[in-house]
Amino acid sequence: MKKIAILGSTGSIGTQTLDIVRNYSGELQVVALAAGSNVELLEKQVREFQPKVVAMWSEKAAMDLKERVSDLEVSVLAGMEGLLSVAVFPEVEVLVTAIVGMIGIRPTIEAIKAGKDIALANKETLVCAGHIIMPLAKEHNVSILPVDSEHSAIFQSLNGEPKNRINKILLTASGGPFRGKRKEELQNMQVEDALKHPNWSMGRKITIDSSTLVNKGLEVMEAKWLFGVEPEQIQVVVHPQSIIHSMVEYVDGAVIAQLGIPDMKLPIQYALFYPDRRVMNEKKLDFFELQNMTFEKPDTETFYGLKLAYEALRSGGNVPTIYNAANEKAVALFLEKKISYLQIPEMIERSMSKISKIENPGVEQILETENRVYEYIAGLV
Ligand code: NDP
Ligand code: MG
Repeated sequence: MKKIAILGSTGSIGTQTLDIVRNYSGELQVVALAAGSNVELLEKQVREFQPKVVAMWSEKAAMDLKERVSDLEVSVLAGMEGLLSVAVFPEVEVLVTAIVGMIGIRPTIEAIKAGKDIALANKETLVCAGHIIMPLAKEHNVSILPVDSEHSAIFQSLNGEPKNRINKILLTASGGPFRGKRKEELQNMQVEDALKHPNWSMGRKITIDSSTLVNKGLEVMEAKWLFGVEPEQIQVVVHPQSIIHSMVEYVDGAVIAQLGIPDMKLPIQYALFYPDRRVMNEKKLDFFELQNMTFEKPDTETFYGLKLAYEALRSGGNVPTIYNAANEKAVALFLEKKISYLQIPEMIERSMSKISKIENPGVEQILETENRVYEYIAGLV
């Protein structure tokens, strides 16, 4: 029985992870869960999966949950302390980081120190702290198993291949709901328009990120840390059908890819059972139904959030944190309808030019940078 914990169990990745646990209840056991404030759903999950410890970010929600589940033997915790307790809970073997945003940094680091393998969906953590997390994982002999579909595809395409023979990584992108649009057309895009992703059903923040191509920018940075390649070796290829989930080109010109229907359950399940593969009773790819696969260059003039990501990655230090924190704040403001769509990349660009650079930042400096960016953006709106 593999014992797992999930940070962000009530979200898109979290609930799909629990679907897999439900299918493999004889082999996977949930021992700890954490979420933000969705008490109703977390209560249901606690009753069904019977974890030993749960945490809610919101103190109020935690108190509410504690009352609701007082008939069960489960400890209910709150805040960062709660997230950390879930992450390092002694029985946990694999921590699924399905929380959204930089809040995942500290729990992920503590889990690695406690020797837990990480099934990583929370890309923001690697973007900001990859230089801390990757060496730490090596030191503690811990596996970082990618859940992000592109990175899972790359991971699968690297199986059994010599790592020093990679020419480049071809990171595929659907292009999002605004593919083909020009800047003028994006001016008046509303939250509802940006939330209509053509192929994937995901949480709100990542869906907005997909529409701006900032998600792809974050994924470029995530790929650098996971696979130890240089920015020049990561090429984004727009592939609107989202069938090829990413590819690796080797020095001899061979390209190895992983294909499948767009369904996050596959990469999640692969991470949970790696290196094994298990039956998944979902629709399979039918090449006759799939008439064609097309490819385009990304439009990095209109969707310049992607270009800024490469700049942030090349600068290094805390610049990826500035990029990420500015995006997190700007997307939150856009979702609250306080700024317009095009102000998202604008705020990233302005933050990157305004906030001072720190080389090789530690966790405290990463979190300080986040605060500085938030203050700067608060001053802009
Ligand atoms: P969702 O918004 O659907 O879910 C986020 C989860 O995190 C919820 O359970 C939420 O709890 C919880 N949460 C948010 N803030 C806190 C906090 N401060 N403390 C504790 N829990 C918190 O996001 P997704 O599932 O879409 O994304 C999660 C991560 O996975 C992101 O980093 C995303 O980039 C990545 N990812 C997602 C993919 C997808 O298909 N969805 C694909 C690839 C990567 P509550 O509901 O209670 O607020
Ligand atoms: Mg992805």
